[in-house]
Amino acid sequence: MCGIIAISGTDSSAYEAFFGLMNLQHRGQDGAGILTVDEKEPPGFHVHKGSGLIDNVFSERSFKNLKGRAAVGHTRYATVGGNNPNLLQPFLDFDEGLGLAHNGNIVNFYSLKDKWLSSAASRNRRVVSDSELILRLLADELKGEAPAAENFFKALESIMKTLVGAYSVVGLTKNGDIFGFRDPNGIRPLVFGTRDGEDGRPNFALASESVALRFLSYTNIEEIAPGEAVFISADGQCQRKVIHRESVSPCMFEWVYFARVESEFNSTSVYKSRFRLGLLLAEQLKQTNIEADIVVPVPETSRATAIALSESLNIPFRELLIKNRYVNRTFILDDQHSRQEAIRRKLFPIADEFEGQRCLVVDDSIVRGNTAQQLVRLIRQSGAKEIILVSACPPISHPCYYGIDFPSPKELVAYGRDAEAVAKELGADRVVYQSIEGLKKSLEEETLCTGCLTGSYPTSIEEGLDFEKQRLLDRKDRIKESSC
Ligand code: SF4
Repeated sequence: MCGIIAISGTDSSAYEAFFGLMNLQHRGQDGAGILTVDEKEPPGFHVHKGSGLIDNVFSERSFKNLKGRAAVGHTRYATVGGNNPNLLQPFLDFDEGLGLAHNGNIVNFYSLKDKWLSSAASRNRRVVSDSELILRLLADELKGEAPAAENFFKALESIMKTLVGAYSVVGLTKNGDIFGFRDPNGIRPLVFGTRDGEDGRPNFALASESVALRFLSYTNIEEIAPGEAVFISADGQCQRKVIHRESVSPCMFEWVYFARVESEFNSTSVYKSRFRLGLLLAEQLKQTNIEADIVVPVPETSRATAIALSESLNIPFRELLIKNRYVNRTFILDDQHSRQEAIRRKLFPIADEFEGQRCLVVDDSIVRGNTAQQLVRLIRQSGAKEIILVSACPPISHPCYYGIDFPSPKELVAYGRDAEAVAKELGADRVVYQSIEGLKKSLEEETLCTGCLTGSYPTSIEEGLDFEKQRLLDRKDRIKESSC
């Protein structure tokens, strides 16, 4: 999962990309980059990238070179390749005059890469990742033609038939045009906004989440539809076209965990969805014999769900797990040891308040179970009488091949375990999960990707095992490196 942004039509494009990325920091903390193009001073590409949080990557000096009225930005969340600086985005094909940034994962990357590298088209150019492969394929399809909306859309017809997986892409051309496109199932999000520019002409922007565009005062924010592409020329002509549409399947995990609570997808507010998840969980709990004294959210993502649950069950809401806000989000840290260490440093219980209480502890999801297990231990040590873990998300028991870092089923605590066995594994008295029907109702989406819940995916995953193997090899390599 990564955050992407593209800005067009303003001399402050790099600054705006930076502030947009600051609002997408939660989508990736491994590195960041901004690419601009100044079409008046060819060769006009300027790029700045680095590892770590956005604030650490950019300084006032970085912006001196980032000139131009078009910019794309990226904040990286590594699923393969760890902190390898070669994998930082945006990628640029200088000779072909194209650059882009990508959020998602191409399931058939390894076979496409082998095919492309052995073809004449490769001309000894490298392909380090699926994002760079998209750039190469697009450049090849455009065959050196100055990209314009029509030939760009035509190139995408072929590319969308070739790529299998999840991709939201933003990019720019040497002429100062920006573009964006979204995979035919719409698995990864991409939104589009406009506003009046200072010179009276419209400004355009694309981003992973609406929160980034609202922060930059863009209005008329709408979704790029699944399989749709948009091309905005340097002189402000905007053209959109649905290139190829499959079954609409946005990732349910965007609403449940990943997105900022201020964002909305497909006119569905993330905050409202999380609130409804709580209401539906309350209905479920009313059918059981469960009794509790307090509702405690696991900060931050589950707060809206816990409030709804507390209000609906008429059980007091208590913020008793305090987060150290200077520790990164644990889920997107990329190895087990870092995650466990981060959880220990991240959350602290107000012990006295737990003493003798029967607690409903609400989390957005239970993935590997690391957080939950440590939390249960902390809460028990604080003297709680009973701990019922409530998950806003149904059990995650299958891998994700579309860019969320749970590729191996064996790492998932719900793999091969029912709720009772999961509770035992985590040391809780009971675990209550959201139902899949409740999830769909809460998100007000009939068609969602629920692959990691059901094992039924919106695309072919024939080559998904290659990705899983590569991910595990990659992780072993990094453990070896870090122990040297
Ligand atoms: S498999 Fe799960 S996490 Fe992956 S895209 Fe689908 S819903 Fe999202």
